[in-house]
Amino acid sequence: MRVVSGIQPTGNLHLGNYLGAIRQWVAMQDAMQAGDECLFFLADLHALSQPVNPAELAANTVEMAATLLACGIDPARSILFNQARVPGHSELAWILGGTARMGWLGRMTQWKDKAGRQGDSQSTALFTYPVLQAADVMLYRATHVPVGHDQKQHLELARDIAVKFNTDYAVELFPLPEPFISAAAPRIMSLRDGSAKMSKSDASDASRINLTDADDLIVQKLKKAKTDPAPLPDDPAALADRPEATNLVTIYAALAGSSGEAVLAEFAGKGFGAFKPALADLAVSVIGPIRERLAGLLADREAVGAALEQGAERARQLAAPTLLAAQRAVGLQV
Ligand code: ADP
Repeated sequence: MRVVSGIQPTGNLHLGNYLGAIRQWVAMQDAMQAGDECLFFLADLHALSQPVNPAELAANTVEMAATLLACGIDPARSILFNQARVPGHSELAWILGGTARMGWLGRMTQWKDKAGRQGDSQSTALFTYPVLQAADVMLYRATHVPVGHDQKQHLELARDIAVKFNTDYAVELFPLPEPFISAAAPRIMSLRDGSAKMSKSDASDASRINLTDADDLIVQKLKKAKTDPAPLPDDPAALADRPEATNLVTIYAALAGSSGEAVLAEFAGKGFGAFKPALADLAVSVIGPIRERLAGLLADREAVGAALEQGAERARQLAAPTLLAAQRAVGLQV
């Protein structure tokens, strides 16, 4: 099994990113067997598809790497790096650009959503973004790619590109990467609105718990989280039309590593006056140590940079034979 997954180096990560993405990466790393490989990268090349502030991009990349380390990604077991330090990503993306079709890319819903009617004024990188994503996984001949539901279409495109490349050049170079949608990955909603995803782009900071929030701020945000006056039921089905209550139960279960049923079995009949303090204690016990590790790592950014460089070196070595084979397949090398 070879797992490859990336995340854009944007600012502050929140509880949704942690429970929905990063913790799944840590679980995959922990489940690795001998011979398996997990590659996790900061997608700094992808960030160029939108206007960037160069100093911010560089700082975010190191801060995001520090966050992943603080959350439990272990550079001794996983390969952690930033895309830009492994030139094979860009080079293979260009090679695959000869295989991907305009029509395929034009059908990507993310392109349609993001470009809207202003397609002509968008960067070409926003349009070809899924080709770089295909290169990201094919460069390592990835077998499993953890994806959220919103990325599933891009992975299908990567499979189409792999099939067409293998067929056009009569090679068996690229395996078809399997999407790996973790059933355990919860979708965490805003603390202010149970129908909106917890997101860094929400204008209200009270809507999310950041991994850098102090303990008392976490307690305060959970205390003020929107709820309803009814006590918690013992049957999960009874939460169906209570999105805010559902969200807090989901967060509790995810943090405790248990299930919604188990949480309800413990708190049935109790109101939020009792549930919220228990949730706050649990949240602080998980996020507090991450925040402290992160602060320690950010005090030594050079060490984080060195860890990234080591990861990049291993990634370049793993990528080299596939890149050479792709160059040979298309006639760029003999
Ligand atoms: P944001 O919505 O805050 O901009 P991103 O789109 O950068 O977050 O997502 C980074 C990763 O975190 C993705 O794998 C995404 O699926 C996951 N993620 C983001 N928000 C949530 C959430 N509210 N619940 C679960 N997972 C999330």
